[in-house]
Amino acid sequence: MRGISARAPGKFDRVRFLITAGPTREPIDPVRYLSNRSSGKMGYAIAEAALEAGHEVVLISGPVDVTRPRGAAVIAVSTSDEMFAAVGQHSLRCDILVMCAAVADYKPAKVSKSKIKKRGENISLELIPTRDILASLPKDRQYLVVGFAAETENVEANAQKKLRDKNCDIVVANDVSRADFGMESDENEVTILFRDGEIKKISRALKTIVARELVKIFVNVCEKGLTKKNGR
Ligand code: C5P
Repeated sequence: MRGISARAPGKFDRVRFLITAGPTREPIDPVRYLSNRSSGKMGYAIAEAALEAGHEVVLISGPVDVTRPRGAAVIAVSTSDEMFAAVGQHSLRCDILVMCAAVADYKPAKVSKSKIKKRGENISLELIPTRDILASLPKDRQYLVVGFAAETENVEANAQKKLRDKNCDIVVANDVSRADFGMESDENEVTILFRDGEIKKISRALKTIVARELVKIFVNVCEKGLTKKNGR
């Protein structure tokens, strides 16, 4: 496996980004699904910013209504299982994995083969946890892993926990309880948490601007080889 530690110093002008974006859809029956409000805008903006900076981008995208970034290899997926498989396959040749997608945390235990008929009574849907893509990545991986945390309360504390529990190198956290920015919006404000305890903030700006800053930060950490801490 080629990874960042296998690269010679100074070879980072072209970094291989693997970016996930958008929601996943978890089918209930042939016409219905469970999903979330993720627009994909943040992930697509990171893809655009990485391309603009001359990097290589593979974008694994859930169903979104955003223009495809020119120059990216786009892999369209729908369910969390498809995203899981695509990340497993493409992370074998990336330097930075950015898990920006809002992967569903739960999916229906059973998918009905036929459309569930309306009846005049309550029905229950049994949900089971999806496979956590971040938490399933190998400990001895050779690439930088960036997770995202969309929180409605205790943003920093929850993001810190996510960084540890999901063994990320970086977590980008945002407060999705704010109606004026974050999910679906063109703007965002983020807090970036690093493994060594450092915390940076990017104040409210267009997602395209935030994305440029994020790409610089990710490439910088990648260059510094902080991922040597992987596998601790
Ligand atoms: O636990 P939570 O869903 O809040 O974590 C968010 C982060 O975990 C995001 O980076 C998301 O892409 C990732 N995730 C994942 N697999 C899941 C659920 C979330 O990789 N099944």
